Amino acid sequence: MHIHPIPAFEDNYIWLVIEGQNAAVIDPGQADPVIDYLEKHQLNLKAILLTHHHYDHIDGAQTLRERYACPVYGPKMREIDTISQAEGEGIDLSSEGLGQWQIITTPGHTLDHLAYFSSSSPPVLFCGDTLFGAGCGKLFEGTAEQMQDSLQKIRNLPDDTLIYCGHEYTEDNLRFASLAEPDNADIHQRVASSHAQRTQNQPTLPSTLALEKATNPFLRWDNAELLAQAEQHARHSLDTPAAIFAAVRAWKDAFDSRPQ
Ligand code: ZN
Ligand code: FE
Repeated sequence: MHIHPIPAFEDNYIWLVIEGQNAAVIDPGQADPVIDYLEKHQLNLKAILLTHHHYDHIDGAQTLRERYACPVYGPKMREIDTISQAEGEGIDLSSEGLGQWQIITTPGHTLDHLAYFSSSSPPVLFCGDTLFGAGCGKLFEGTAEQMQDSLQKIRNLPDDTLIYCGHEYTEDNLRFASLAEPDNADIHQRVASSHAQRTQNQPTLPSTLALEKATNPFLRWDNAELLAQAEQHARHSLDTPAAIFAAVRAWKDAFDSRPQ
């Protein structure tokens, strides 16, 4: 099984899971680049997995479903008819060689957001717009409490989990991460490595959960330096992981206005 990115729109990644001539697609916001890739490599699409209802993650799904007659899994949504998924349920694509996927509900960016986890070796997580390289999704629908709880679930996964996000935002996010934790050497190192990857037009993804835990301010609510910086910025003490997360999220929202 290998995983291939198809760039879409400005900065989205549509991810393809490929085994032999079979493929599954995650978050096809556009159909054309997926069809082009499948045809060029003579692949058969066997499943479509959706993380949440935003157009840039679902708009190609109907065209692909009709063309390849494959099932669409995802949250229940009005935009497209899905085989809807709930916490802890599984999607077994192993007969196609495409893995077994466990549903993790991750409300926050949207209320319906799901992540897909496979305990393969190494483990794999498709997290849509919940977690980004060195960042996390904006809170369009959920509360900070919900999002922090969702991120805690991701943080509990194995350290070597490969993290496949919905967007290429890592370099932008690291600008804020560097501000939030100026003395974090792992962040400095990631700034350099991400810049080198982007200069060569390479994705910065997948990352690993270990790298995110070391450099992503939205997974570091129990880090003393981040807490001190967040309290200084918020001008009051922050007593719970959710309060720390909320303050860091609000700080980043004020720092830049991009949709991430
Ligand atoms: Zn989104
Ligand atoms: Fe998105």
